[in-house]
Amino acid sequence: MDRYLVKPNSKIDLKAISSDHYKGYQGTKEQAMELTKIMNLELDKLQKIQNAEKKHKILIIFQGLDASGKDGAIRNVFGSVNPSGVYVAHFGAPTTTELSYDFLWRIHKKVPSKGEIVIFNRSHYEDVLIVRVQNLMPENIWRNRFEHINNFEKMLADEDTIILKFYLHISKEEQRTRLQSRVDNPEKHWKIDPQDFKDREKWDEYIEAYNDVLKFTSTEYAPWFVIPSDKKWYRDLIITSILTDKLRKMKMKYPSSKYDYTGYVVK
Ligand code: ADP
Repeated sequence: MDRYLVKPNSKIDLKAISSDHYKGYQGTKEQAMELTKIMNLELDKLQKIQNAEKKHKILIIFQGLDASGKDGAIRNVFGSVNPSGVYVAHFGAPTTTELSYDFLWRIHKKVPSKGEIVIFNRSHYEDVLIVRVQNLMPENIWRNRFEHINNFEKMLADEDTIILKFYLHISKEEQRTRLQSRVDNPEKHWKIDPQDFKDREKWDEYIEAYNDVLKFTSTEYAPWFVIPSDKKWYRDLIITSILTDKLRKMKMKYPSSKYDYTGYVVK
């Protein structure tokens, strides 16, 4: 899985990274989907232990350009996990109240507590992406945010939060196909957002902004993974593998009872 890990301080050029599936992958699409399903079930078992143990907090961040598949990936990776221990927080454009605080205020309120998995669908990274590309704040403001984000995530990690960040990498052509299918398919009309087309015109600037995000904010304690996402089945396979592997290595176990069989507290 190291193939997709962004090493701290490494210079990233997304235009040189393939968004298609790894050609060295030997299996078929059907096998990949089958394997993903098997790991989904393992993820459910691991989450059950994490929830019972109440030791770790797990934060998973999904970022990507419009139509990169954030919703689909969340559904396909976590679809089998017990919904009572997993929460999804979606961050859209901030409200007037949210804008009157610092950019991390609304984010901090949603981070996981012990035993929880929280998934961010978009996140504080929008504050150095759309804010930068659409010129919503002066440069000195958003540039300082890289450091603030690293400090914030370090604090969370020091307080026992496991953080994994996934950038869903799609090609400009694949985005065109997906946005077009929203226009062609009546069941997808509700997804059409004129902002997506405006953002697409700034594709190069977004890629540049993502290059910086990956370079400045992939750390030992909160690593980024660049997930090739043109093929949904490959995207799901890789994310599920990375997550399952991480949770397996945490060596979690069910806590033993605090009581003996008579109901007395065991000292
Ligand atoms: P999505 O595109 O995630 O399915 P929405 O249609 O609600 O959902 O879009 C959310 C929009 O909010 C995106 O265009 C995103 O860039 C924007 N957004 C998120 N966070 C911020 C932010 N901090 N500042 C400005 N815009 C933001």
